Amino acid sequence: MYPRLVVDLNKLKGNLDAVAKITKEEGNCSLMIVTKGLCADPEMAAMVASHPAVDFMADSRVQNIKTYAEIARQNGKKTVLLRIPMHAEVADVVKYVDLSFNSELSTIRLLNEEAGKLGIKHNILLMIDLGDLREGIFFQNEDLIFAAVEEILGLENINLYGVGVNLTCYGAIIPKNDNLSQLVGVARKIEEKFGIKLEMVSGGNSSSIYLIGKGELPEGVNNLRLGESFLLGNDTAYGEKLPGTVSDTLILEAQIVELKEKPSLPIGEVGVDAFGQKPYYEDRGIIKRAIIAIGKQDTDIDSMEPLDEKIDILGGSSDHIILDVTKSDKEYQVGDVVQFVLGYGGMLKTATSAYVEKAYVR
Ligand SMILES: *Cc1c(COP(=O)(O)O)cnc(C)c1O
Repeated sequence: MYPRLVVDLNKLKGNLDAVAKITKEEGNCSLMIVTKGLCADPEMAAMVASHPAVDFMADSRVQNIKTYAEIARQNGKKTVLLRIPMHAEVADVVKYVDLSFNSELSTIRLLNEEAGKLGIKHNILLMIDLGDLREGIFFQNEDLIFAAVEEILGLENINLYGVGVNLTCYGAIIPKNDNLSQLVGVARKIEEKFGIKLEMVSGGNSSSIYLIGKGELPEGVNNLRLGESFLLGNDTAYGEKLPGTVSDTLILEAQIVELKEKPSLPIGEVGVDAFGQKPYYEDRGIIKRAIIAIGKQDTDIDSMEPLDEKIDILGGSSDHIILDVTKSDKEYQVGDVVQFVLGYGGMLKTATSAYVEKAYVR
């Protein structure tokens, strides 16, 4: 059935080998693979769980982690929750998650209670905000960091596993030797002040991996969390391709349901489109327009590129995407399938849409 997302498990395995080599062999870091970009696809998760280089399997949603917690643990991987937990989900967190990222004491207290009910110790990573301004205690507020650590160390069922930072997500701040060194500094100060050893200093996501190649990842950062670099081969700091990776791990396929020669400019007064936006049209004269049966409900139209480079995406609505196939060398027919490579947004939405089937290359 179409539309479908064809997941190439061999290529994903190749990307995993490549990022593992950089992160573990060259960077001396533990490897946390992030599964949320592909909505924790079960075949992908099984491949990741069975890969010997992977130390942690992480996702932002407990629902996703639930689906693979067992197989991850069977294979000796720790499960990790990346998004700061909701109060509403703490019971599931201590059950399915081995390490959760936290920044709020009220939530950590609840995790402590729930872990106590299960008779376990729950690991937490304290998030430090180095200026990207999403989650974490602000790095300049050292008193707040120390006060949080002091209370955490007093909680019976919580283990402070380490500290971490997230960059290049909200604020688009690029990880560098100087800002990540500040994270290492915070870790060392905590260790000194409280006489403890922190297991993990987690230096960011796919935007940090480029520092290894440049020899600029600060000494002391000992973990990276990789989603997009594994799934699509991207260094997300500068948008370069990582050595040994490919970007066509996923191919989106959609079927043509209408193919007609029509003008490129709509006729009549222009209002707003289905999403309240004022559209822009380019006059290309009479063109061959193909409608494919997939829409903005299923994918991100700005984050997909036709494999046939002579096709242009003209636009779309909830359930339709309109292509200009005029210049293509292929004589498209109704019923033909058009293929696309995806960016992060396209991957995220197609993997999450209940209307997009999955197929696998193994
Ligand atoms: C999504 C996420 C990641 C992975 O990011 P990529 O850019 O896909 O590697 C890592 N850490 C946190 C906290 C995240 O939310």
